[in-house]
Amino acid sequence: VAHKETHGFQTEVKQLLQLMIHSLYSNKEIFLRELISNASDAADKLRFKALENSALFENDGEVRVRVSVDKEANTITISDNGIGMTRDDVIEHLGTIAKSGTKEFFGNLTGDQAKDSQLIGQFGVGFYSSFIVADNVTVRTRAAGLSTDRGVQWQSAGEGEFSIADIEKAERGTDVILHLKEEEKEFLDEWKVRSIITRYSDHIGIPVEMYKEGTPEQEVEDGDNIPATEGGWEAINKGTALWTRDKSDISDEEYKEFYKSVAHDFDEPLKWVHNKVEGKTEYTSLLYIPKRAPFDLWNRDVKHGIKLYVQRVFIMDEAEKFLPSYLRFVKGLVDSNDLPLNVSREILQDNKATQAIRNGNVKRVLQTLTRMADNSPEDYAIFWKEFGNVLKEGPAEDFSNKEKIAKLYRFASTHADTAEQNVSLDDYIGRMKEGQEKIYYITADTFSAAKNSPHLEVFRKKGIEVLLMSERVDEWMMSHLTEYSEKQFQHVAKANTDLSEMDDEETKKAHEEAEKEFQSFVERAKAALGDKVKEVKVTHKLTDSPAVITTDEHDMNTQMLKLLEAAGQ
Ligand code: ADP
Ligand code: MG
Repeated sequence: VAHKETHGFQTEVKQLLQLMIHSLYSNKEIFLRELISNASDAADKLRFKALENSALFENDGEVRVRVSVDKEANTITISDNGIGMTRDDVIEHLGTIAKSGTKEFFGNLTGDQAKDSQLIGQFGVGFYSSFIVADNVTVRTRAAGLSTDRGVQWQSAGEGEFSIADIEKAERGTDVILHLKEEEKEFLDEWKVRSIITRYSDHIGIPVEMYKEGTPEQEVEDGDNIPATEGGWEAINKGTALWTRDKSDISDEEYKEFYKSVAHDFDEPLKWVHNKVEGKTEYTSLLYIPKRAPFDLWNRDVKHGIKLYVQRVFIMDEAEKFLPSYLRFVKGLVDSNDLPLNVSREILQDNKATQAIRNGNVKRVLQTLTRMADNSPEDYAIFWKEFGNVLKEGPAEDFSNKEKIAKLYRFASTHADTAEQNVSLDDYIGRMKEGQEKIYYITADTFSAAKNSPHLEVFRKKGIEVLLMSERVDEWMMSHLTEYSEKQFQHVAKANTDLSEMDDEETKKAHEEAEKEFQSFVERAKAALGDKVKEVKVTHKLTDSPAVITTDEHDMNTQMLKLLEAAGQ
């Protein structure tokens, strides 16, 4: 051991360590999943880099991860022969958190353990989860391709700091050695470890091995002796990438566990769709709809995307070209046979295969959501609450699927008059009145402002339903969504919505008379308001309120409208 230094953890790491140890106690065995998934990532990275430089394999192309326990030393070790880490890598990756938005994330924690442990689940605890069960962690690693004296040892008790030193390490890759806390000795039980690994890691694409002791020859009376067996490392998972297997061979449990590792989520997914596509473009996609929005869904600096594999080789994370941004909540992967192994983000940019895969993905996700909406409305309500506002970016981004996207929308409306967003456009159309041609809606800052708007009076009087929109994106979304199912949308605060086309002759006459009667008042009002208004008119829209301010059909400026409303009341 040489060149030993001590470093302090980044503040956020200290916070994470503190929080994790206290809030993830009931979920403690996840450390195995996290460490095995890191080992598998390290194998993926090695294979990817070796495409250009096969010397990195150091004559050993069989990547695997091994798990062993030592009852005397009180340790459990997870050992891989993946890419390994250099000294700089170790300091960076095992001393800081690289995710953008981390500061904000910790700023959002409430101190309420139940809530925080949910949040931390979506944040992803990764390597640091070791400290849920360990009071001391040693990492011994050497980067593939470096000489054996360039190994590095990292050590920490998970408090404020870690030490780092140079070591000799013959085999490339990383050993993570957890010294178990006194009360966590159950993880020394091989059967327990084995069963956890089977549950969490069956889908991992490389073998996860445990050592099997040999047995001596056994004597059998009146028969042949049972021969001795040799001890050796034995794979305890299937070791084939889940998505390459036949759908009918994969259990829901396996799909769910796989989701947890690709999405870094503690929760189960809401739905998934797994497809092998043959023909012009050949690829496999496995796409998941999560139950909960990740903490960084609205962070513009964060790339959202799926994993890209080419011919089963992992190429990149967050490949954003395979789904449009309004579907950025989708997690999962694509494995293509048509892209080159040396594909880069630039090549993906305008590639025919990318385009075809993307279109296929969009189709499948929209289909999955449509089915969920039809067949499991409760799940769909969960989805809508978490991701509805993202989906509302759809009409602006994806013109060709506008209609399908809009079919998925759910709004509050005057039908139930509650804030619950559960009215689809098809529901609305089904309830349209005889003679009603348009889909009426109102946008406002809050649900109650929408619901109590005087613009609704005439609609309520005539029993015509109005969609009540109060999400921030609604107004912008509606500027890109002008019709649905051949019906125009109409904002009720825009001029020309007095519904007179639906009046009978008698009412029309009465209205004409009222207009005449108020002629001179209108003139006076116009003179008094002068330049402040474009027009003053008698309206038949109101039943209770004396007056209302409206904008012209084509004026989108409701900010102005709001100012005027505020000033006018
Ligand atoms: P994540 O896996 O989400 O990046 P982790 O906390 O699990 O977060 O790991 C942090 C980083 O440490 C990884 O991104 C990787 O660079 C490095 N790392 C962790 N474990 C290994 C390993 N077994 N081999 C190589 N690098 C590793
Ligand atoms: Mg990880």
